[in-house]
Amino acid sequence: MEIYADIVIVGSGVAGLYSALKLPKDKKIVMLTKSDVESSDSFLAQGGICVQRDEEDYESYFEDTMKAGHYENRKESVDIMIRGSGAVIQDLVRYGVRFEQENGKFLYTREGAHSRPRILFHEDITGKEITSTLLQRVKELSNVTIYEYTAMTDIMEQDGVCTGILAEDVSDIWKAEENLPLIQSKKEHKKEQIRIHADYTILASGGIGGKYQHSTNFPHLTGDAVEIAKIHGIRLEHLDYVQIHPTTLYSPKPGRRFLISESVRGEGAVLLNHKKERFVDELLPRDVVTQAIYEQMEESGMDHVWLSMKPIPREKILKHFPNIYQHCLEEGYDVTKECIPVVPAQHYFMGGIWVDSDSRTSTERLYAVGETSCNGVHGANRLASNSLLESLVFAGRAAKKIGE
Ligand SMILES: Cc1cc2nc3c(=O)[nH]c(=O)nc-3n(C[C@H](O)[C@H](O)[C@H](O)COP(=O)(O)OP(=O)(O)OC[C@H]3O[C@@H](n4cnc5c(N)ncnc54)[C@H](O)[C@@H]3O)c2cc1C
Repeated sequence: MEIYADIVIVGSGVAGLYSALKLPKDKKIVMLTKSDVESSDSFLAQGGICVQRDEEDYESYFEDTMKAGHYENRKESVDIMIRGSGAVIQDLVRYGVRFEQENGKFLYTREGAHSRPRILFHEDITGKEITSTLLQRVKELSNVTIYEYTAMTDIMEQDGVCTGILAEDVSDIWKAEENLPLIQSKKEHKKEQIRIHADYTILASGGIGGKYQHSTNFPHLTGDAVEIAKIHGIRLEHLDYVQIHPTTLYSPKPGRRFLISESVRGEGAVLLNHKKERFVDELLPRDVVTQAIYEQMEESGMDHVWLSMKPIPREKILKHFPNIYQHCLEEGYDVTKECIPVVPAQHYFMGGIWVDSDSRTSTERLYAVGETSCNGVHGANRLASNSLLESLVFAGRAAKKIGE
């Protein structure tokens, strides 16, 4: 099958959706997603999205991002993200995203390694609120066609210029309950190749968590774009920079790990060892807290440590963290009364396809945005709640550059 478009976007998370919204409306856009449109990590984001609160906040936000990233961040990218944050939030609100407010003013929460509260949130389902709103706006566009259960398998290149992608129908693999792959039912016959020709290609295919046994990511996010880029000799950066989230709900069952957002610790929850004693400052950067947890697990021989949400008032838990409260209850834990077992798990990929500050890869007419790309914002370790913002700011820049 041959499909002709002006722009093809691979992935329907926030990075792909925002690109589509920001591209010129007279361009024919084709989007594809390996699963259904609601199965992207963007829907899972709990904690929130950062914003520079005021002019005085610039210095400390910049420093917090650099410090968390072990000063390996690209300073220019950090500056672009912070200075672009206000406009992106205004844009989201215009599209219909609702952030928590009191008396007409935004409420801000705090997460690890932030020197002040600067995170906007919607209960503990901020990602769902943002992504479902953007998806709705994209569905209203007559110039965008979305293909679900359609996976990119390669890119097309002519004389060093990207001319589109190759794809195939994967509904036999990923159309499953709980989004676990139906590997056994994978048909043996050769599939029809879909050739999508486009003047510009945007890779927005998310992270690599599907490659790990324990991850908070959807299992179909397996770093396909990064692998394809490697085969084509496209520049990659920091492939070994993988973030482990310190607190996911421990379960002996296989499958995606349920995240216990850092903002729970930001609001006062404490980590306890097997003797139910505190052992770390819970608001240190993620890699430091993770290391401290592993040390405790090794010392005690236990598969997890404990998290106590008791310091947070019950009403606040029910209002700010209803999703976490409900999920834990279904797993047999009432977080308002008892500790929950938590364990670190793979969470985020700081490395990826190298891009410049306009999200251009080293191949002409090929762009990469969101978690698949590496624009250097996060350095060696991502500051909490910077990734939705980074995805949106740099997706907007890609769309602007292509529009020009
Ligand atoms: C549990 C959890 C909580 C989080 N909480 C926060 C938070 O509070 N704040 C924050 O800033 N960040 C948070 N993050 C990180 C953030 O959600 C992601 O980094 C961000 O949403 C990535 O957006 P994306 O558009 O790049 O990728 P995704 O939203 O993951 O979308 C990737 C898309 O690519 C598609 N795709 C993949 N491979 C292919 C292929 N071969 N062909 C076609 N399509 C393909 C997928 O189907 C999907 O549509 C969280 C992440 C997780 C997992």
